[in-house]
Amino acid sequence: MRPTRLGQLAVKARTVPATTTVREMERTFLAEPDLACVIVEREGGHDMLTRECFFSESAGRLGFGRARHGRNPVSAISDGHPALVLPYELALPEAGRAAMRRDGSSRYDDVVVTPVADGLGKVSFGRLLGELSELHADRAKHDPLTGLPNRALLFERLETALRGARPERRPCLLFIDIDDFKQVNDSLGHPAGDELLIAIASRLGSAFRDCDMIGRLGGDEFVVLLSAPDEFAARAAADRVLLALSDPLTAGHRDFAVGASVGVALRTDETRPEQMLRAADLAMYEAKRSGKNRVGVYRPALHVAAVERLELRNALPKAIAEGQMSVAFQPIVNLETQAMHGVEALARWTHPERGPVSPLDFIRLAEETGEIAEIGAFVLRTTLGALRGWPELSGLRVGVNVSLVELEIPGYARRVEEILADAGFGPERLILEITESAFARDDIVALHALHELTELGVGLAMDDFGTGFSSLARLGELPIGVLKLDKRFIDKLARSSDRRLLRGLLGLAREMEIDVVAEGIEEPEQLEMLRSMGCRLGQGYLISRPMAAESVQGWAATRPAPQRG
Ligand code: C2E
Ligand code: MG
Ligand code: MG
Repeated sequence: MRPTRLGQLAVKARTVPATTTVREMERTFLAEPDLACVIVEREGGHDMLTRECFFSESAGRLGFGRARHGRNPVSAISDGHPALVLPYELALPEAGRAAMRRDGSSRYDDVVVTPVADGLGKVSFGRLLGELSELHADRAKHDPLTGLPNRALLFERLETALRGARPERRPCLLFIDIDDFKQVNDSLGHPAGDELLIAIASRLGSAFRDCDMIGRLGGDEFVVLLSAPDEFAARAAADRVLLALSDPLTAGHRDFAVGASVGVALRTDETRPEQMLRAADLAMYEAKRSGKNRVGVYRPALHVAAVERLELRNALPKAIAEGQMSVAFQPIVNLETQAMHGVEALARWTHPERGPVSPLDFIRLAEETGEIAEIGAFVLRTTLGALRGWPELSGLRVGVNVSLVELEIPGYARRVEEILADAGFGPERLILEITESAFARDDIVALHALHELTELGVGLAMDDFGTGFSSLARLGELPIGVLKLDKRFIDKLARSSDRRLLRGLLGLAREMEIDVVAEGIEEPEQLEMLRSMGCRLGQGYLISRPMAAESVQGWAATRPAPQRG
């Protein structure tokens, strides 16, 4: 947003010689109703006389001024009103700063504005005080980057909307959070990120009516305040946000496909502005959790879930220190020979009161709080320690899950190297499992870390394959040795179209010498089908549930010996 120029606010003024009489001056003011001010040229400077000032002074306090001043020069009145002369092009905030340097009570008096900085050829006149106070009020309520209303103004409007609403004009709040915005900032830099935010703001602007309020709360969070008679209408408005953003946006000379998670909150009887914002925020969080680029509507149950999350989040830092974390191992077998091929290490958290907490929940929390770095290191150390306890399984490969957030931590590959060295293991037996979606993005930091890990000699697996992102292209670019087919993909194999897809995928993987592991095998028919199609490796409850480290070697002994080579 370009700041207002002083000249844009200026009104008509003119210069007059100091010898002009008060009577002449009065005639001029009366003849030119739009003349707001005169600049009186005196020796050594300029005085300023506004229309109001002139008339009140010339009339005098008791109305006798005209008789007294009639023949006097105008300088008799203007003396003591020194003009501050500022150039036409000056931005209003700077004009304000110049006014602050004036002394005394005239500090905020009006100013003379000239087209050139050093002369009074053509002058106009600016009402500084009024404009400045409006500017300041405006600034406190608007986001400087996009010019949209900020949180303060949102609360004001929300307050009004909640107070007065008729049922058919129920206030409804949309909370919008841009998906993966951090990636743009990290990979292309903040100026491109800012450009994208401005583009998003204007896209949102064109998707709603003038009477709907679009605001920015900060970062990549936007809100829309509108009225909607019911949930159906509110949802439709939220869908409009996704639709508006679905066409690519341009920033930093690149096109971006932008997704957003949108939370919807409708007014209920006792809603206060901050409650409504919180409700919409919770609904947004739920939309993000359930897969991004979607709409979530607030339900009271979300509040309960949020409180639980908060409790878990607070309990997380102590979990490792107090020995509540452990690692379970799920066998991966050769589907043809039934021999054990490897294990996947899975983090486990047993909360003292709540019992087992799903990794799907606590990994996400740990990613948000940064605790994931500790958890990742703990799982890796524990896994290497467990390996030492399985001397008979010297050829066993171990998969350890790594979150995208960990990959983005500077020096991640070096830390893995250190942990391996501390444990006295080489990198050959370790396979880091990274979720498919992490590969789908152009995340330069993460991709760099993956290359460093490969150089170290660690194997890479693409995890959760088939869950929606198409990252096949990455298979060629990165040295990925293992593809793990997600359970959801395996569950769909009853459909012939998905079987065809799998057959093609297996052919491609064979060609590229990539091992394919089918995850989540629960039914004997699934195992048989996978085996017959040539999928070599698998894991799942049918074969074995994840187990404690102490049980792994015993379990392997019940299996045929692997044929290596
Ligand atoms: P994942 O890496 O895809 O792990 C496989 C998940 O499927 C595990 O869930 C496993 O217990 C489950 N599973 C295996 N076989 C079956 C089956 O036959 N049926 C069903 N329904 N599920 C099966 P878990 O242990 O709950 O872990 C969930 C996810 O949490 C993991 O998915 C992984 O993405 C993440 N995770 C677990 N441990 C870690 C960790 O140490 N670090 C990181 N970053 N993520 C982890
Ligand atoms: Mg995994
Ligand atoms: Mg998986």
